[in-house]
Amino acid sequence: MWVSIRDNCVGCGACAVISPEVFEMHGRKATVNQNHVHWNEDDCIDAAITCPVNAIQIDDY
Ligand code: SF4
Repeated sequence: MWVSIRDNCVGCGACAVISPEVFEMHGRKATVNQNHVHWNEDDCIDAAITCPVNAIQIDDY
């Protein structure tokens, strides 16, 4: 699984609450720590569903 943040992220912080190991806030944008995705895939999916602007993109390798 590959997780990335689209440019339309509004910095609400919800993803970083759901999975702080994967998502970190840098200013008004979320960033992804790809090294931690593998062990947190379910949380990544939850974050993508929860994101209010659908800014979390999840792709298969
Ligand atoms: S939940 Fe979506 S809008 Fe909110 S910080 Fe994360 S990526 Fe950005």
